[in-house]
Amino acid sequence: MQQLLRIFIVLLLCATPTAVQAKVNVFACEPEWAALAKEVGGAKVKTFAATHAKQDPHYIRARPSLIAKIRRADLVICSGSGLEIGWLPILLQKAKLGVQPGAIGYLMATNIVPILEKPAVVDRSMGDVHPEGNPHVHLNPNNILLVAKELSIRLASIDTPNAGFYQRQLSSFNTQWQQNIKTWESNASVLKGKTVVVHHRAFSYLLNWLGMNAVASLEPKPGIPPTTSHLEGLLQQLKASPADIIIRTPYEPSGASKWLSEKTGTPNLVLPYTIGGDAESRNLFTLFNRSVNLLKGTNHD
Ligand SMILES: [Zn+2]
Repeated sequence: MQQLLRIFIVLLLCATPTAVQAKVNVFACEPEWAALAKEVGGAKVKTFAATHAKQDPHYIRARPSLIAKIRRADLVICSGSGLEIGWLPILLQKAKLGVQPGAIGYLMATNIVPILEKPAVVDRSMGDVHPEGNPHVHLNPNNILLVAKELSIRLASIDTPNAGFYQRQLSSFNTQWQQNIKTWESNASVLKGKTVVVHHRAFSYLLNWLGMNAVASLEPKPGIPPTTSHLEGLLQQLKASPADIIIRTPYEPSGASKWLSEKTGTPNLVLPYTIGGDAESRNLFTLFNRSVNLLKGTNHD
């Protein structure tokens, strides 16, 4: 009898791992949303980032390995507003019903936050990749708070037994994040009013938050590579009215910004843009720390 009891206990112990509840599979289009899902979902989610910091999220191939990942997704979190128009719809054809547009598992950050540079009329002419406004919303930390809240609601709805857990995670993230926003804003106060030339309008939300002014883009239109005539025009513009910094992302070519920097003497800077954009930007907190510090490093007043 005792022998039987021992066998029973052993069987029970072996069975325990399968009784552990499956994690929520989160498919994030960009590293920043994967990082946010980790903050809000903690150990209850399994996160996958479809792209990395050295890839331009506008131009990704819907390759089979991404299809394999999205098939298993319980929640898809992306920027939206056309950023992933060239690849996400293709991937979604193979995904579950619960992550299709309109479903609880389909979360687009641009549906949650206020959008900058929204045109009065949607216009995709001349290759403009921001026809619905600027989709690079994650670089304003206040937007991160709004998306975090929505994400916790969606996770609680998908994984109801752990609803309380997601709420507590959100609350602890909120407290920590808000403290950091105060620190970043006070550290960056010297940057207010500084003028910036960007390669692509990837930093509009960061600059807008910090009170900095984007005075020009190296691209004649979002998604159109710099042309000689456009750059010559910019050179004349900066000669008449110098800018403080030229910035670009780690995935953009350096040629145009280096050329303009050499011609004008304006410092030329690569900001991490997202998680993994440089060695220090390992999570959302260090991404913002690093971005503010790099911008401040160019401040020699
Ligand atoms: Zn863009």
